[in-house]
Amino acid sequence: MSLVVDIHKRLGAFHLDVAFEAENGITCLLGPSGCGKSYTLKCIAGIERPDSGHIELDGRVLFDSEQKIDLPPQKRQVGYLFQNYALFPNMTVAQNIRCGLHREKDKALREQRLREMIRLMRLEGLEKHRPYQLSGGQAQRVALARIMVSEPKLLMLDEPFSALDGHLRDLLKIELRDILRSYGREVLMVTHSREEAYNLSQEIAVMDAGQILAQKPTKALFADPGSPQAALLTGCKNIAPAVRIGPHAVVVPSWGVRLQTAAEVREGLKAVGIRAHYFHPAAQQNRYPVTFVEEMEEPFETIIQFRYDAQAPASPPIWWRLPKDKKPQKFPEEMGIAPANILLLY
Ligand code: ADP
Ligand code: MG
Repeated sequence: MSLVVDIHKRLGAFHLDVAFEAENGITCLLGPSGCGKSYTLKCIAGIERPDSGHIELDGRVLFDSEQKIDLPPQKRQVGYLFQNYALFPNMTVAQNIRCGLHREKDKALREQRLREMIRLMRLEGLEKHRPYQLSGGQAQRVALARIMVSEPKLLMLDEPFSALDGHLRDLLKIELRDILRSYGREVLMVTHSREEAYNLSQEIAVMDAGQILAQKPTKALFADPGSPQAALLTGCKNIAPAVRIGPHAVVVPSWGVRLQTAAEVREGLKAVGIRAHYFHPAAQQNRYPVTFVEEMEEPFETIIQFRYDAQAPASPPIWWRLPKDKKPQKFPEEMGIAPANILLLY
């Protein structure tokens, strides 16, 4: 199973230039609102047409501007779960799901597949309900059932949790993850949420302003995002320009510190990133005097902002995040950071 995408589109001032490949399991496009995620999915589904490029699914060309190939959506074998699920409001749950089965001509077989899908999605008893009678989670499962019942080669999910919140979202994430794993086909999901991307995908392509910045296995991306924008999108709070001064040493002028790094610093370094969780008052390396700025409480964690004593006045305070029960009685005079926890950004 593999998807190859390399497309270009001008939308007024916005330029989409997206190239990535996805195979095996769940791949996620992670990027901020407006970066072109939904438009990319629409091009793959055949609802929008790129100006130029190539889209291929399992060796079958869906779109190629040079070869003048542009398969209509219904021939692409691609399922697309819209951001708002888009159920037919005047149809029942069963009727909605049957829409995904219109190509199955054998009535008995059609009803059998409908029943199987209703069981798989745990929608028994809701067959005659209409969309307005469903909870957010049920509506999501009906929409997913309608798509999956047509057995697309590629399943695309556009911000599948954006209509849901809190506890329900967490429950559905686990549920959807299990459904998708058992589905055993290619899944392409887009989201602006790094938590959702981390929870669900094996591979992430980071997207910003119409371009793919990096593509890596999920854990590797969070461990080493590679660029300042990708570090920001994976939730890194502290990013500052840095200069290489040796194979394992950098200077961060705006923080007024010099840091030893575990990874080798290559030429072309732009910045360093330090995740808010990684500071430690007891860490022996990269220790510098610090001053408390302010503090904010969350239910189980505390966020403390501090400044290095030698930090430039215009440089924003640094974020330190720690579990409440680990918070020291008194704000430390010096803060350290393990060399392995410094992200090198190019
Ligand atoms: P995302 O899903 O990442 O939030 P979109 O793919 O919806 O972003 O949109 C990316 C950019 O393309 C936005 O700037 C949006 O205004 C623009 N855009 C989307 N669809 C169209 C369209 N049909 N015509 C013109 N511009 C569009
Ligand atoms: Mg979108």
